[in-house]
This record gives sequence, structure tokens and C-alpha cells, in this order.
Amino acid sequence: MGICNLCPRECSVDRAAGELGYCGVGNTLRIARFAPHFWEEPPFSGTRGAGAIFFSGCSLRCVYCQNHDLSHAAKGFDVTEDELCGIILDLQEAGVHCIDLVTPTHYADALVRVLSRVKPLLNIPVVWNCGGYEKVETLKALDGLVDVYLPDFKYASEELAERYSGAPSYPKVAQAALAEMYRQTGAVKLDGDGIIKKGVIIRHLVLPGARKDSIAVLDLIANTVPVKDVRLSLMSQYTPDFAADCGLKELYRRVTSFEYNAVLAHAEALGFEGYFQERSSADKKYTPEFSGEDKKRNL
Ligand code: SF4
Repeated sequence: MGICNLCPRECSVDRAAGELGYCGVGNTLRIARFAPHFWEEPPFSGTRGAGAIFFSGCSLRCVYCQNHDLSHAAKGFDVTEDELCGIILDLQEAGVHCIDLVTPTHYADALVRVLSRVKPLLNIPVVWNCGGYEKVETLKALDGLVDVYLPDFKYASEELAERYSGAPSYPKVAQAALAEMYRQTGAVKLDGDGIIKKGVIIRHLVLPGARKDSIAVLDLIANTVPVKDVRLSLMSQYTPDFAADCGLKELYRRVTSFEYNAVLAHAEALGFEGYFQERSSADKKYTPEFSGEDKKRNL
């Protein structure tokens, strides 16, 4: 890692020299937790869990982020590339359905090296579980190493993207990234048990007061990839607990049933299939804690 332009922030900082970019991490691989994880969508969690590896730092750092300690504070512990290879193989050995790389974008260069080493030893898919704010050039380096993309598509409006994520280019960037992801994987493929093997599953979190933007996001997706070839995970789990200090009062409440159902109706009208949450999931207790104990979890 030297001068870093891995993500659309294009900070041009020298991470090898210890400089930190917007993502908040330098020259080491830093993770916060690795374990079988049962709170992803059914094609990932299945019955034995997704082999989740949560990376520290984030190139988006949304104000309402529900993993604030990881994304904003970059809490975690350093691992070498050798150790990360071992973690991935241990997770496979533990019986998980997939290797779930969570918020990996700012480590893409190291992960290309790691995945090139472990991919021939894996018989489960590799999932790139990201915020959707990816450079096409960086995604191209992952072609053949990643089987499934699980991106967010957060905003259609540049104003909202700027207000909540400081990234006005997000809609255009995410649209180009989604097209590249679909080019690489093609249509979603599930096995006989409904476990993902290949494809793109797109997440969208409905935010309070942003129903119309959510509807515009669905239109953007439908104009970018064939609706029948992808799956949509439409999430209602936004909770205000994590936005308490951001000063944006419109975020100090949950999403109403009216808001979520209006977005859901539009998704159904466009022909999306996928995973739609109950509003009861909008509870802080569904957000995993990231204590130091987690890394000691016995696989
Ligand atoms: S990965 Fe980090 S340092 Fe590199 S361009 Fe993105 S935010 Fe900046």
C-alpha cells in the first residue's frame, strides 16, 4: 500500500507512510470481528451462518451508521495477510455458507492478494459486502475473486448523499459500480437449499423522511440491471440511536409503516424479488456489539 486512490474519495495519501485517508486506516489490515454470523439475509446466513469478517474503518462513514465504532472510530485489531488467509480457511472449516467480507473496500489491494491465495482452497462463495461506493477500476481487480456482490444502494439524490455521507457523487458512482458487479457475476444463482452461489443482491435501507428518494433509488437500480436477475433486500431496520449526535433532527425517529410500505409497493410494482423486513427489526438489539471478546470466539 502506497499512495491510496482505491475508492472514490481518491485521497492520494501515503498510507505506507502512516498517513490516514478519509477511511481512517493506514497500512495495516484491521478487523473488528470474525465469526459465523446469522443476521444476514437467508441466502447468506442459511442454517450455519455467513463467515463474516468485519473490517475496521470506512470510506463512507454515514452519520447514522449502526456500526459507528468500526466505521468512524476504526476500532479493531491488526492482522497480517497470512493471518487473514488463516481466518478465512478457519471459517470455511467451521461450516459457514460463504466468506462474507464486510466493508472491505479500503483494503481492496490487500484483499486481492489474500483472495488470490485462498480462492483455490475455497468451496464456498466469497461475498463483497459493501456500501456501493466503489470505483469500477477497483472492482475490476476483484473480477474472478468475488462470487457475490452485496452492495448498498443508499441514495438517488446528490443532496441526500452529501448531507448524510459527505459523498455527493454517490448516486452516479453506485450506479456504475452496480453495472460492473452485474457484468462480473451475471444473474443470481441459488443452490437447492436457497444458499447464494453467484450474483448481486442489493440492499437499501429506508431512512426517515426519505421515502421519495428510496423510490427513486429503486428506479435507478431498475434502469441499471435487469430486475429479474438481481435480488433486493429492502430494510426497515433504521434506528435513531446511532444518529443521536449528528445534529440532523429529521433522523431522530424511526421509519413509519407508511413510509416503508410505500417503498415496498414500488419495489413490487417494478417486479423486484428479494427480502423484505418486518418493522420489528428496527431495534438496536439487532446490531452486533464489537467487543474485544469477539475476536476470541472459538470457531
Ligand atoms: S481507501 Fe481510504 S485512503 Fe484510499 S482513497 Fe479511499 S478513503 Fe482515501
